[in-house]
Amino acid sequence: MKNIFLPILTVSIVFLFSCKESKSSLSKGEKTEENRNTYVIENVNIIPMTEDNKVIENSTVVIKGNKIHSINESTPKNSTIIDGKGKWLIPGLIDMHVHNLSNGSFSKGYPTRGATLSFNTQNLMTPYIASGVTTVFELSGRLGHFSQRDKIASGDIIGPRIAIAAVIDGEGNEIVARSPLEGRQSVRNAKGMGYRFIKVYTWLNEATYKAIIDEAEKQNMKVVGHIPSAFEGKQAEEFFVPHFGLIAHAEELSKQTDDYSYETAQNFARLAKENNTWLIPNLTNLVSIRKQAESLESIETLPSLKYAHPLMQDKWLTSNGYYGASDESIEYYQRQVDFHKLIVKAFKEADVPMLAGTDAGISGVVWGFSLHDELELLVDAGLTNEEALATATRLGAEWLEIDDKIGTIETGKFADLVLLNENPLENISNTTEISAVFVNGQWLNKNKINNMLAELEAWNEANKENFKWKNRKSL
Ligand SMILES: [Zn+2]
Repeated sequence: MKNIFLPILTVSIVFLFSCKESKSSLSKGEKTEENRNTYVIENVNIIPMTEDNKVIENSTVVIKGNKIHSINESTPKNSTIIDGKGKWLIPGLIDMHVHNLSNGSFSKGYPTRGATLSFNTQNLMTPYIASGVTTVFELSGRLGHFSQRDKIASGDIIGPRIAIAAVIDGEGNEIVARSPLEGRQSVRNAKGMGYRFIKVYTWLNEATYKAIIDEAEKQNMKVVGHIPSAFEGKQAEEFFVPHFGLIAHAEELSKQTDDYSYETAQNFARLAKENNTWLIPNLTNLVSIRKQAESLESIETLPSLKYAHPLMQDKWLTSNGYYGASDESIEYYQRQVDFHKLIVKAFKEADVPMLAGTDAGISGVVWGFSLHDELELLVDAGLTNEEALATATRLGAEWLEIDDKIGTIETGKFADLVLLNENPLENISNTTEISAVFVNGQWLNKNKINNMLAELEAWNEANKENFKWKNRKSL
């Protein structure tokens, strides 16, 4: 059971686990290999999300292969023209905290038995792409995620770029370390398996947590994660250490204190700044938990629910770990929701970079769609529209150290782009007004996206009876 269940936050367990459009102005036979994938977006307003982020109005963007070839230079002949008049082009979005389902088994395995529950990778990835999410950070890495990443990289599946972190915990996860020695060895093992990032988790003891972070630095691996429960009630100076690079959600901070004052938030922000520790506020998850604790209506009425795998739809509705919480718990969730807004305010004031991440895969948090909820909540908590966009574009790329490849609209970068009908700098909810998406140079217009979503919805609907949560042990 451990291989497909992972504790998320500390209050729940969640089950984790080519269609190239050849639209061209040329008739068949006239096309050459070289221009086959050349697109020109004309008259578009570019929001480059570079540091100065000067909007480039009425521009011409040329996409050749999987790269942004030029901006406001000559238009190559024989390319597909896309009318961008009155539209807005932003970099593909990054969700820095996701949990993708991956193949597994609820029943007992034996050496020659593989997964008994397999997922269609395209079905798992379509919600991201339909939402303009072109890069994700998988924070419960398992071997199945490497295979998903490779299928996407090879072009067999249309999906986001995937960065993967290995979880090291004190108990309850696949990789367990109970001493500094085990912690250091676990980091080296993870590196050997191909992981590039380490996620520290809730049940590590203090010394092991620090040893893992130290070893990760030696191995040139960045560290994201939880703050172990062992630090609860202690001075925040104890757990803010250099090279702990990214806090997986603001809840990690609200769990450490009973004093939900702005001064406490400011103290966290000061220490984060000193240690270069960035923050994923992850507001959407706790807002969703708070609602579910009281009623399941927020899940039943979620427009994107139909795009979640039917097993998850059923689990969230029939075996919801949050629903039915005591009044005290509901009040606690509400206090956390309020405190997390103060944390965002304090981190902004202290100039600590924040990254958009949703905990997609958690009950009620649908892959891809949830990123837009997070952006709205970040603005509600005090970020400007532009600052919120930066958390889901340039800054995520910077933390992952791929800012030379994605995260802004600049010549030479990968063509991960979202074309919007409305300006998100005026209203952040305009990030949902998607006209088309470029993913690694592949153009998906609204029709194509709608078809992909319709296909996914139909499959989910047709397979509902086959994926009842209560029957999972027979899956
Ligand atoms: Zn998570």
